Amino acid sequence: MKSYREELWFDIKKRRDYINITPKVEEALRKSGIREGLCLVNAMHITASVYINDDESGLIQDYDDWLEQLAPHEPVEHYRHNLTGEDNGDAHLKRQVMGRGVVVAVTGGRLDFGTWERIFYAEFDGRRKKRVLVKIIGE
Ligand code: ZN
Repeated sequence: MKSYREELWFDIKKRRDYINITPKVEEALRKSGIREGLCLVNAMHITASVYINDDESGLIQDYDDWLEQLAPHEPVEHYRHNLTGEDNGDAHLKRQVMGRGVVVAVTGGRLDFGTWERIFYAEFDGRRKKRVLVKIIGE
């Protein structure tokens, strides 16, 4: 069995953003040389998510509005977590809703997606360098 590991780095200039990272994961898969197996992609930070859904701008805005309703960034003093001196209590909660990461089947050297499935990196507390792990195992 082969194994491949790569870290994708992000330095998002905004507090929150949603980025289609499918081409980066496909490039990692190509470099791995793996044709049949599994591809894990996960955020390596507790204030960011990796999820799969449609690359459609309305939906992305809907996610952001919905997450802001569930866990508004302001007022920051609303969150007990922020008593530590941080201001990212909302980002921890948003990450929990959107998840840590995804696993995609690899078939014939390609990510075995449904028609509209794309992999996204969701940043909830940006303006600093953060990482995503790509781990691919198989033959
Ligand atoms: Zn925090």
